[in-house]
Amino acid sequence: MSRPFASAADLAEKTETFEVLGDGIYALTAEGDPNVGAVEGEDFVVCFEARATPYMAGRWLSHLRQHVDKPVRYLVLSHYHAVRTLGAAAFDAEIIVAHDETRHLIAERGREDWASEAGRMPRLFTGAETIPGLTWPTVTFSDRLTIDLGGDRGDLVLAHCGRGHTAGDIVGWVAKQRVLFAGDLVEAQAALYTGDAFHADWSAGTLDAIAAFGAEALVGGRGAVASGRAAVDAAIAQTREFLLTMRREVGDVHRRGGRVRDAFAAARGALEPRYGRWPIFEHCMPFNVSRLWDELDGVDWPRIWTAQRDREVWDQLQDD
Ligand SMILES: [Zn+2]
Repeated sequence: MSRPFASAADLAEKTETFEVLGDGIYALTAEGDPNVGAVEGEDFVVCFEARATPYMAGRWLSHLRQHVDKPVRYLVLSHYHAVRTLGAAAFDAEIIVAHDETRHLIAERGREDWASEAGRMPRLFTGAETIPGLTWPTVTFSDRLTIDLGGDRGDLVLAHCGRGHTAGDIVGWVAKQRVLFAGDLVEAQAALYTGDAFHADWSAGTLDAIAAFGAEALVGGRGAVASGRAAVDAAIAQTREFLLTMRREVGDVHRRGGRVRDAFAAARGALEPRYGRWPIFEHCMPFNVSRLWDELDGVDWPRIWTAQRDREVWDQLQDD
């Protein structure tokens, strides 16, 4: 019995939860669908992530506008993936901020990624006709960018913690209230997508750098908000264990000269007891193992996913 491709059969609407995490800090989570957030400055708003279409972004903004009515000065893109970027037009943002590598990746593979993600996750692309084209950052940086929120609100620090979910992930740190927007570098009870990842870096130094913030609340890329230090630590630990389990299982098969589909079966089997029921687990695993196999082969720069390559890898790695 072959599994339906990626999330193509996942068409049931998720319940969206709007949360106020602190003074002027907002998040919208949706049972494992991509999260978005916002931080209020004295006379502007910073939005974190754009969703897949302007229509979907507009739904988030209609929640947000019930709480804050200031213009969006900054739209922060945590990384290049289409479900995080293509809704940007809805924000009418003065400045769109991302990492240098995110701009590079959009130029290199933005079109292919758009087609790939729309095929994998059609439900997230509701209102696809409202997308005006690729989203281009207007300001990029390599290490750190600090936004003064004004008044006594302190700083929002945007930081690159090393290569991880992609080559150019950034996190948003609300220093005064110790809240971290972690993008897809940390997931809370949702499976990891690692199809464009750097597993070795992510599972070590990058997650160490994220833990070092000492956040009291963390908004990951998917899943519920982690509130309190114990929940934050658990989300980071769960992310690391997922990566280390994949590295161990796929690495074992790779070292002994096995086949990639054996590695897929081993990694899936090892992760399934703990992670198997979490959102997008089955969707992600073939793409994850394919990328990790390349990484172990010494392919440093992730290969580009196309709608066609998605299907080939999916068919290659499923059970007979
Ligand atoms: Zn992503």
